[in-house]
Amino acid sequence: MPLNVNEFRKLLEARQKELLSNVSDREEIRIENAAEDFDRLQQQLNREVAIRNLDRESKLLKNVQSALRRIDEGEFGICLRCEEAIPERRLKALPWAAYCVACQEVVDRQIAAGTFDGDRDDVSELAA
Ligand SMILES: [Zn+2]
Repeated sequence: MPLNVNEFRKLLEARQKELLSNVSDREEIRIENAAEDFDRLQQQLNREVAIRNLDRESKLLKNVQSALRRIDEGEFGICLRCEEAIPERRLKALPWAAYCVACQEVVDRQIAAGTFDGDRDDVSELAA
């Protein structure tokens, strides 16, 4: 059965919108924190958490945008490494998945070992 790509496009576009608005909200929070006279350590911690979240969200945003690009190019749901179809069940859990499960494991190992030579933007598997 062919994938219902429009369904995934809707999901991904909704997620993209959400992530984009989160990123701008966070900017506001940071400015507010800086304006108040916070305890320095607390401020530092807040900043670290904010940066970690922002980093995670901007990675996820890149993955979501790559997936939308693959929809436009008619390559959505095809593993970037082995070019087999990614199971629909995996795409439902992770609509921005760029690899099938087996390839994701290989890629994760290569990244950990520093031997991965593909496009890093597409690779990190982030939970929904
Ligand atoms: Zn694969």
